[in-house]
Amino acid sequence: MLSFDRLRMTINCNLFLAPRAPVWGIQGCLFMKKVYASQDKLMVGHIRNLLENEGLNCITKNEHLTAASGEIPLNECWPEIWVANDSCYEKAKKIVNEALSSKTPAGPKWKCPKCGERHESQFTECWSCGSIRTV
Ligand SMILES: [Zn+2]
Repeated sequence: MLSFDRLRMTINCNLFLAPRAPVWGIQGCLFMKKVYASQDKLMVGHIRNLLENEGLNCITKNEHLTAASGEIPLNECWPEIWVANDSCYEKAKKIVNEALSSKTPAGPKWKCPKCGERHESQFTECWSCGSIRTV
């Protein structure tokens, strides 16, 4: 007959060993991966909608956290989107990348005013001399 301690240990083990268990919170985080973080809450909401439309379970962290505490580095206060496990991660990352690249308008190429290097529209600084894009 199982002792109470043994039973409790078994339950704990199951929680930690079942990667697909719908256990959010501290245990769930063990199997989760961050796919996106931005200080732009609207964009985070948009990405999350895209992921959920594709049937991916995800959670948002730091949604209501602000940098006001002063004790946390600013970029760690950004809202983050986490997905449940490895198989979701690959798919989620692809969706995020597509969403981000489609957000960049496809404009004309530009020419660095300092060194004359030509760049695709999505680059905002010159890889050759480091100038910030001004044209
Ligand atoms: Zn340049």
